[in-house]
Amino acid sequence: MIRLEHVTKKFKTKGNEVIAVNDVSLDINKGEIFGIIGFSGAGKSTLVRCINLLEVPTSGAVYFEDTDLMKADKKELRAYRQKIGMIFQQFNLLAQRTVLDNVCYPLEVAGMKKKEARERAGELLELVGIADKAEAYPSQLSGGQKQRVAIARALSTNPEVLLCDEATSALDPITTRSILELLKNINKNMGVTIIVITHEMKVVEQICDRVAIMSKGSVEEEGTVQSVFLSP
Ligand code: ADP
Ligand code: ADP
Repeated sequence: MIRLEHVTKKFKTKGNEVIAVNDVSLDINKGEIFGIIGFSGAGKSTLVRCINLLEVPTSGAVYFEDTDLMKADKKELRAYRQKIGMIFQQFNLLAQRTVLDNVCYPLEVAGMKKKEARERAGELLELVGIADKAEAYPSQLSGGQKQRVAIARALSTNPEVLLCDEATSALDPITTRSILELLKNINKNMGVTIIVITHEMKVVEQICDRVAIMSKGSVEEEGTVQSVFLSP
């Protein structure tokens, strides 16, 4: 579904060159949960930003299905970005808006009528198990509840891919488990492909089908979680 071919991203700062991502090739299959694990500074965020094209790779290619995204025009890129939802460690909710309005926001930006957007947002809040907080503000919610809202918002525009960037890193172990279960259900029931960026082994063990280990910009190993971590 998403294919990276020899993706390299270099940054130049004051004459110094940092190779944040070094010759990474990966295939992410439709319907799977793919993990990218590595220590801080390994290049995970930069790689994700190359996948959603917030960064343009210095060299290499990114394909979505048969589209070469490096050669795509504006319209194709916009269509591609709409297929990708994102959630983050810090939730990134709008503090001045209620839970319901946070989920409505991307729908209204996409041109949906207010009434319809509210209905759809309500269904999504139901789906992530937080419909009772629809009129609350983000500051009134726990971390796990905030992440549920962020997941509802990310799903509002029906993305085919959900990118989760350290989505459970700010949560305690029990809340982490419940958010990971929710992501697993979304993958299974809605067929959303999920890409999980994490520095935590337990996250990969709990939900990933396949995993790539990143270190110093490179993918060191890649395969099923079983083959990479659990075999002798
Ligand atoms: P991770 O997400 O695994 O923590 P990052 O992708 O954030 O890793 O960073 C990989 C490397 O690239 C680090 O050495 C980081 O300092 C460097 N880096 C990331 N973004 C930039 C940038 N915009 N300018 C310069 N260096 C960067
Ligand atoms: P970093 O890891 O370098 O701090 P992030 O990956 O968290 O950066 O993203 C930086 C900002 O870009 C965030 O505030 C986030 O809201 C925005 N952003 C990242 N990816 C997307 C996306 N696919 N769509 C919309 N906004 C995005």
